[in-house]
Amino acid sequence: MQYVFPPAAQPAVAIAESDVRFPVRRIFCVGRNYESHAREMDPSAKREAPFFFTKPADAVVASGSMIPYPSRTKDFHHEIELVVAIRSAGRDIPVQEANDHIFGYAVGIDLTRRDLQSEARKQGRPWDLSKGFDHSAPIGAIRPVAAVGHVTRAAIWLKVNGTVRQQANVSEMISNVPEVVAELSTLWELRPGDLIYTGTPAGVGPLQPGDSVEGGIDGLGTVAITIGPPAGRPA
Ligand code: MN
Repeated sequence: MQYVFPPAAQPAVAIAESDVRFPVRRIFCVGRNYESHAREMDPSAKREAPFFFTKPADAVVASGSMIPYPSRTKDFHHEIELVVAIRSAGRDIPVQEANDHIFGYAVGIDLTRRDLQSEARKQGRPWDLSKGFDHSAPIGAIRPVAAVGHVTRAAIWLKVNGTVRQQANVSEMISNVPEVVAELSTLWELRPGDLIYTGTPAGVGPLQPGDSVEGGIDGLGTVAITIGPPAGRPA
């Protein structure tokens, strides 16, 4: 096959204690999957079925990276999340079989242009600008199920410049991981390489250039990023 220009590199994520990498196919994200965060966004929020949005596969950024402060926002937020890495295809997956499709788990940050998200919500417009921008999906190394089992109860936290901003337990998710996988598979046929960011607990807040951000989930290690100056126009 000849292409008119070289195809883009395959986005991929490190696997803990391995030289082999996880090739990313798509990135799905769950909205409002912790009551504490649903309420901080909307005090009248009720428990509801999960809803989804997406980011481009090449939004993944390795832990340890500097992320340029994104353009067109004045309210750039962190959201610490458990990430599920899918290993096998499935459509209409029953909840009881969902775990069979999971390769492993990682710690991720769903970076968000909160001001553009609020504006989109008000106007009934899509979330792509607020959620799917470049570098918007930092992620730590994936821990295979074979090494860590399935994650149902584990502390999840995020610190900015050493100060705790988010602290919760993944057991507080409204829809647990098998329920999220099952529901998502009724909307898309899941494929190997898909990642699912499963939602964030309360405590989301703004980041500034120069901030050091570190988040973790017990048993799954950490993800760390620093926020750099705006990228600006290439020279
Ligand atoms: Mn999120």
